[in-house]
Amino acid sequence: MFRDRFAPSPNGLLHLGHAYSALSVWKTVQNNRGEFILRIEDIDTARSRPEFESAIFDDLTWLGITWQQPVLRQSDRLSCYTQAISKLLSMGVCYPCRCTRADIRNALAATQENGRGGNTADAGAPPYPGSCRGRRMEDATNRDSIRLDISKAINLLGGRDAISELWFDEVGAKHAGRHYLSADTLVGSHGDIVIARRDVRTSYHLAVVVDDGEQKITQVTRGEDLFGATSVHRLLQQLFGLPVPVWNHHRLIRDGTGMRLAKRQGSASIQSLRNSGKTREDIRKLVGLPD
Ligand code: GLU
Repeated sequence: MFRDRFAPSPNGLLHLGHAYSALSVWKTVQNNRGEFILRIEDIDTARSRPEFESAIFDDLTWLGITWQQPVLRQSDRLSCYTQAISKLLSMGVCYPCRCTRADIRNALAATQENGRGGNTADAGAPPYPGSCRGRRMEDATNRDSIRLDISKAINLLGGRDAISELWFDEVGAKHAGRHYLSADTLVGSHGDIVIARRDVRTSYHLAVVVDDGEQKITQVTRGEDLFGATSVHRLLQQLFGLPVPVWNHHRLIRDGTGMRLAKRQGSASIQSLRNSGKTREDIRKLVGLPD
């Protein structure tokens, strides 16, 4: 069964970018006689609000979308994430990290001064400099986050050559085709990712991979800003022995000045567009979707 998902975080009102994403999932699900999976990604308890979750349900319903019940909420799944983390711990590929953001910034600045700058080929932040890599899990405290030692994970999976034989398929226009993983990119651009934050005991990367597996997602549709994370997700799937979906990273919706829409910038919400009298067809036009 074809299963694609829309996975918003309830930390603000949905904007046109979300409408585009949700309508794209809806269209492929219909074309493939599949299921629309709605997942509420609310591990960030400090920013998630029940009223934003209700607004997501209202907006999607208004857009004419229906989804499978029950809706999975990440905050209900913390024990599953703990189990997944235990699996990684038993593989010996994790270490505790006590670094604050400031520690990481300072360590990166120091390596750059020594002429050994981090790989910034990726548009994202440079990878974690590895300051805590020598620490052992036995010495972890509850103030530590847990990181995946990406080089150890690569070795466990058979080393660089074995990694370069792993691939994922992309159907989105910009990156369409087969993408092989690269140990250099994983180490140089992503580095030792956090798998358990100190506050929520899971992380975006871990939760998304565990849930896509649990929900038997066959296609992952999301914005192209997340394309870079896909190699890491593919690596985690391999470590967990999870099935591998196809990815569809779609273009981002931008405002009149070319800026990508974001909740934090107060981009016009679907709710406000709806209240100002816009119709569902108007929304489709605004995001450039054919009728
Ligand atoms: N929860 C993420 C967001 O709202 C989407 C994550 C994903 O689709 O992988 O941006």
